[in-house]
Order: sequence, then structure tokens, then C-alpha cells
Amino acid sequence: MTTVKPLTGWGRGVPTYARILTGADDAMLAAAVHDAGARGVLARGAGRAYGDAAQNSGGVVADMTHRTRILHFDEADGVIRAEAGVTMDALLRTVVPRGWCLPVVPGSAHVTVGGAIASDIHGKNHRQSGGFGGHVIAFDLLTADGQVREVCPAAAPETFWATLGGMGLTGIVLRATLRLARLRTAWATVLQRRIAGLDALLTGLDAAQGPGEHSVARIDLSGHRVRGVLSHARPAASADIPPRYRAEPLAYVAPRPLPCPPLPGALLMRPATLAAANGVLRAGAPLVTSRVLPLPAFFFPLDRLVSWNRVYGRHGFVQHQFVVPPSAVDALGTALKLLAAEPGGVPLVVLKRLGPRDAGLLSFPMDGWTLAADMPASPSLAPLLGRLDDLVARAGGRVYLAKDSCLSARHMAQMYPRLPEFQEIRRTLDPQGVFRSDLARRLSL
Ligand SMILES: Cc1cc2nc3c(=O)[nH]c(=O)nc-3n(C[C@H](O)[C@H](O)[C@H](O)COP(=O)(O)OP(=O)(O)OC[C@H]3O[C@@H](n4cnc5c(N)ncnc54)[C@H](O)[C@@H]3O)c2cc1C
Repeated sequence: MTTVKPLTGWGRGVPTYARILTGADDAMLAAAVHDAGARGVLARGAGRAYGDAAQNSGGVVADMTHRTRILHFDEADGVIRAEAGVTMDALLRTVVPRGWCLPVVPGSAHVTVGGAIASDIHGKNHRQSGGFGGHVIAFDLLTADGQVREVCPAAAPETFWATLGGMGLTGIVLRATLRLARLRTAWATVLQRRIAGLDALLTGLDAAQGPGEHSVARIDLSGHRVRGVLSHARPAASADIPPRYRAEPLAYVAPRPLPCPPLPGALLMRPATLAAANGVLRAGAPLVTSRVLPLPAFFFPLDRLVSWNRVYGRHGFVQHQFVVPPSAVDALGTALKLLAAEPGGVPLVVLKRLGPRDAGLLSFPMDGWTLAADMPASPSLAPLLGRLDDLVARAGGRVYLAKDSCLSARHMAQMYPRLPEFQEIRRTLDPQGVFRSDLARRLSL
């Protein structure tokens, strides 16, 4: 069934109209690919990409969210096969109680397997575990010729690594087989430290290295200097978890979602509100705290608030996420200064350390510091984002396509040196350019 509807990304920015195909099985998807008009076809998962990656103005968008079957779970070897619309949440609820976990999860559990592959997502443990693609054994890909190919890295490395991070432009992922990681309990011991100064934050993030460890810093830009809270999580032992949960240490305890309080944009952007929001862990709190939390509370803190993306009002918001090499600390400092001077305010700033780059031709992660900043959409943003993109490109870094809504084709070519290889593979797989998106048109992918 198709209906014409406006779509946006998670940032609720510029909507574009597409024909939305829902409830399609493999044959219906193949027919949609065969009959694609000039504006092409694109798969869409849970719509958690912030910008226009899952939009296809004037074309067809195949909603994959009904494809939620887990097809096989090998509990002995930790291998799971699922349809592309299955979310991280559904996978974790299945595998965690059996002593397994996804080795890489993003900051939201509502992301689908197809979306995780298309963005080659990374977690707070990229240095230890790499990107999502490193744990994908194989997937079924519906390509522009209407065929379904089983793609694995050994037999079809080019198609595999063009699809990982390929933003849905090589075809539609129908099913995937994933490798899991062992888990002793469904809990994490989380150490939080309040830290002043960028250098100290970077040193703290650099120190988090052990197996199974995750780390992230949240930065408060409301004052005159950089302050942050560094969170560092490691797997909790059974003896550490709260006594009432000890009988079932692998039970998946997801916090109950809360409605997001209505917050007028003007109030949200006041320095006092920003300081309070970012200072939750700081004001009056000790310098160091240690808590044992259920995994979802650490992995997915924002999921706790339902539809939190609405707090920015009807114009939505933009997230700018970039990575720069480890040595480009000056560029990171300059970016923080530019963000701190933004009159609209920057309510959320998150810093992580990434490890060596992944094999995906358009995968985002590379060795370095990644900073993600949420900003309410406003006319003053365009020059700021342009300056940030220039700064990142000059520093040898790149912007994350899954978060992007403003990058130019020129910056894209500078930031992703393997783009020509990607384009070549895409031309071979899809000579007529059946798979299209607003992002692909904007960035000349
Ligand atoms: C709160 C929050 C936190 C996040 N944290 C992180 C993080 O820590 N790390 C990180 O890497 N990302 C993070 N993200 C981004 C998110 O993981 C990616 O944008 C992901 O791609 C979204 O998946 P989705 O199912 O919502 O896909 P959509 O947003 O619907 O689509 C994203 C892309 O995937 C393609 N796609 C979707 N399904 C398929 C399919 N079946 N076949 C082919 N292509 C497909 C689309 O065409 C599009 O290009 C976060 C997002 C949110 C909202």
C-alpha cells in the first residue's frame, strides 16, 4: 500500500513528500524497485537519522518497520538472524536474558537493523569493538536488478563495505545475520566524574580502554569554560547488582519511558535552563559517583523521554556530529568556542573517543575525537555549520551523514576520500540510479 506523506528525520527539519510503501514483502519491494520512476526508491527504518538520509522527495520510501521477525537465534554460538526492521531494543530483549549482547549499540534502542547497517553505527566503545559492520556476518540485499543477493564480507567485500555506511544507496537490506558478544549480567558499573577543562576531559576519555568498557563525556557550554561529566561504564559482576535483581542477573530491565515535559523553546534556550539541564549531575553532586545501572539506562538515556525531539518546537533541531584526528585538539577547542558563542544555545554536547577507521567506504568512524552538538534550527545556524564544516575538513576530519542535514557536496568530497570508490560500486550495482535520497542528491553521492 502507498500513501503520499511528508517525512522528516529525527531533527524534524525540512519535510519532503514521498510515496510511502508500507507492509511490503520481498516481492512487493522488488516490484517497487522495478517500477521506480525518475525519483527512485529508498528504504526507511525507524526514522532516527537526524537529517534527510531517510527522505526521498517525490519518490518512493519503503517503510521497513513492519519486518520485525527474529528468524533464528543460535544461543550456543551467539549468532542471530533477523529481519531488517527489528530494532536494537527487540534484539536486546531477546538475547540479553540468554547471556548475549549486541557488541555495538547506538544512543537509541529504537534504531532498526537496516538503519544500523546503512549508517554503520558506532557506540561508546568504538575503540574496543569497532563499528556495527565488524559484527555483521551477512545480509540479504535487494539490488536494483530486482535480485536478492546474500552478501558477506569474504565473498562480496565490495558490496558489503559499500552497503555498511552506504546510507541505503546500494539497495534494500531485507535480513541480516549478526554476531553477538557474551554477557555476564545485564548491568553496568558506571563511574561518573565531574571534570573542568577540555584537556582533562580528553585525558579521561583516553584512559578508558579495557574490554567491555564504554565511555562518553557530556559537555556543558553554558559557563565561560568547558566543563563536563565523564561517564565510564564496565560490565557489573553479579555481586555488584542490587540485591533484589541478583536472582536474575540477566533480566533486561528497561526504565519505564516518561512523557517529555512541554518546554517552550525560549525557556529551553535560556542559559539558566541549559546550565540546569547539563548540571543535573554537577550542581551539589560529589566529584565522583559510582552507580550500578541496568544496561539500557546507560546505553540509551534519551529513550527515557518519549518524543524528546519535540522540545525544540515546530522548526525542529539540528545535530552536528564530526570527528577529527587525535592530534586536532586545537580544532576541537575552536569548535567548542564557536558552539559556545551560538546565540540560540547548544543544549546537548557529547564527546567520545573513536578508534581506527572501519572498512565501510562511507563509514563515519576514524581514529579521533567525535563531538555531537544539538542546536535548535534557526537562520543563524547556517553560517555556524559552514564554519564548523570548514574547520573539520581542514583538520582532516568528517561529518556523520546519519546526523547531517546541511553539509555541502564540496565538503563531502573533502571529508570522505573513498567517495569515488563508493560511487563506482554504486554505478555497477545500480546503473540507472534507482536508489535515491534527499541526502544523496544534496551531497552528489
Ligand atoms: C537519540 C539518538 C541517539 C543516536 N546515537 C547514535 C550513536 O551513538 N551512534 C551512531 O552511530 N548513531 C547514533 N544515532 C543515529 C542512528 O543510529 C542512525 O541514524 C541509524 O541509521 C538510524 O536507524 P533507523 O532505523 O532509524 O534508520 P532511518 O533513520 O530510517 O534511516 C537511516 C538510513 O538508513 C537507511 N536504511 C534504513 N533501513 C534500511 C534498510 N532496510 N535497507 C537499506 N537501507 C536502510 C535509510 O535509507 C537511511 O539512509 C542516534 C540517533 C538517535 C535518535
